[in-house]
Amino acid sequence: MGLFGSFLSKFSRSKASIEDLDEFRRVLIESDLGVNVADQIIETVKREKVENLESAVIATLRSFLSDTSRSISTTSGTLTTILIVGANGTGKTTSAAKLAQHFKAQGKKVLLVAADTFRAAAVEQLLTWGKRIGVEVVRGAESADPAAVCFDGASRAVNDGYEILIIDTAGRLHTKSNLMDELGKVRRVVEKVTPINEVLFVLDGTTGQNGISQAEIFSQSVPLTGMIVTKIDGSTRGGVAIATEKALSVPLKFVGTGEGIEDFHVFDPESYIRDLLT
Ligand code: GDP
Repeated sequence: MGLFGSFLSKFSRSKASIEDLDEFRRVLIESDLGVNVADQIIETVKREKVENLESAVIATLRSFLSDTSRSISTTSGTLTTILIVGANGTGKTTSAAKLAQHFKAQGKKVLLVAADTFRAAAVEQLLTWGKRIGVEVVRGAESADPAAVCFDGASRAVNDGYEILIIDTAGRLHTKSNLMDELGKVRRVVEKVTPINEVLFVLDGTTGQNGISQAEIFSQSVPLTGMIVTKIDGSTRGGVAIATEKALSVPLKFVGTGEGIEDFHVFDPESYIRDLLT
């Protein structure tokens, strides 16, 4: 990323001019930090003495990020259930598979549910991932009721002693009320079988501020407990992580940095800030 690096090293040598600050603000906004966050960073740069600049900017960035836990707490031998929600195309199915692999690598017994029954391609994609990473996938008949598939998946997870259940839901945003009804129903049905521990919202890092309004729509039908920001590989627009976390007060838990199964990391605020500043 290195969004701030060249500016901060310049401003640390001599006080920034108005033109410098305008240019810096433009770069910050283009990186999807949002106007509000960008302006607060500019205020910090204006206010601080050059010798304190870097630490003051770090403190400002840190203040935007949540200090709630980013880990998904799991207990050996008991089931942790995770719903993956988000608009189509954001990387939901890929992230469900990456998350499954993340837990499998920890030696957990993982079950995936392909609940996007309206998109045969999404079901096929998850089945392919499941085969590749050696994780079972529960699927329903084409166009089956997603809630029924989730019920089957949850029952199987409980009965067969799985430790992690990851449900890939549908994300058709064009019919907002249907989506809400469907997600609400999925949630109620799963909760009849087992509590839902996490609802992770998948946000496409390249769509910037649009993702924030998508999250607001989804959070009306299920309370979000965390976010996965995808496609921030090699991007100079990584500011979206800060902007969304600040706007939604939902902790960013994982980041997707590529199409491969290994391109997935627990979000670490300290190294994220370090990357912005290099
Ligand atoms: P869904 O419709 O939300 O389930 O999205 P998919 O999981 O099918 O992903 C849509 C596209 O984005 C696919 O081509 C994925 O390979 C790609 N994708 C998903 N996550 C990432 C990521 O972190 N980085 C990149 N570069 N591509 C991703």
